[in-house]
Amino acid sequence: MEKNSSLQQIYGVLGYPAKHSLSPLMHNAAFKALGINAEYKIFEKRPEELEDFLNSLFGENIRGLNVTIPYKETVLKYLKWQSPEVRFTGASNTIEVEDNNYLKGWNTDGIGFHRHLTVDLKFDITGKNVIILGAGGAAKAVTDQLARKKAGGISIYDIDKNKGLELANKLNKEFPECQAIYVDTVDELDIKNSDLLINATPIGMKENDPCLIDKSRIHNHLLVYDLIYNPAETKLLKMAKDKGARTSNGLGMLLYQGALSLEVWTGQKAPLDIMRKVLTEGLKK
Ligand code: NAP
Repeated sequence: MEKNSSLQQIYGVLGYPAKHSLSPLMHNAAFKALGINAEYKIFEKRPEELEDFLNSLFGENIRGLNVTIPYKETVLKYLKWQSPEVRFTGASNTIEVEDNNYLKGWNTDGIGFHRHLTVDLKFDITGKNVIILGAGGAAKAVTDQLARKKAGGISIYDIDKNKGLELANKLNKEFPECQAIYVDTVDELDIKNSDLLINATPIGMKENDPCLIDKSRIHNHLLVYDLIYNPAETKLLKMAKDKGARTSNGLGMLLYQGALSLEVWTGQKAPLDIMRKVLTEGLKK
């Protein structure tokens, strides 16, 4: 069976729930700007619907998917090809659908983070010491990329010791030149000698959430990056700003992971300014 290229191409985000995703706004604006006859939809699928859905993508003229909670790991068994980032993280956020439903899996989260770090924040990770709070899906994607780009050291703290240790061990095995360690408590983190502090936990999304790091430990040579983008300024970011540190929320990562997905699907350069504009407006609603 061949793809019918005269048909409108379909893309979308697969998740459950998925209806609050900002991806349709970003990608539909991008397709319009690029003059591509495509529509980006929301595919909210229950677990029992997943297999049929993934097996029928090519037949339905669906050319690409973003994958979100809770399916980033589940989709791996349907992939015929996996990028190095998918192999490291065990998760895929971008699927490319080729002829005869040949599914290729990418993970653009970590690359998106790194792109934002270098392109917008002008931060060169080479040889730098990084602290990351959290060892879940996003932390895996981000640390994988930072180690690939030759970070000097990565210190990990997670409430779940097993997860933290597992990530540190994996990084050390895969990237021996980048020293990864797990620490049992936030007090053991050597913030004084670090250049970049990343929050990859969900702590900070809710108004009553605590701040995991004490204000007295933040210094003004630090870049504090919170992967959370809603709220735009978490307690951690506000505190870091008060102490004179550079700060960033996760909106740039969201933008660049989307831009990279679009580039995978279309082979075209993503219209970043338009995507950024609709994302920012969408978040205000
Ligand atoms: P996840 O897989 O659930 O990972 C979060 C990790 O943080 C888990 O290991 C969790 O442990 C740990 N944790 C929770 N509370 C903690 C605490 N008090 N102290 C230390 N560790 C704690 O979630 P994720 O997908 O990685 O997402 C993490 C955050 O990044 C979320 O806020 C998400 O919205 C954000 N994110 C942003 C982008 C972007 O594009 N900007 C992309 C992906 C994710 P338990 O499992 O034991 O609770």
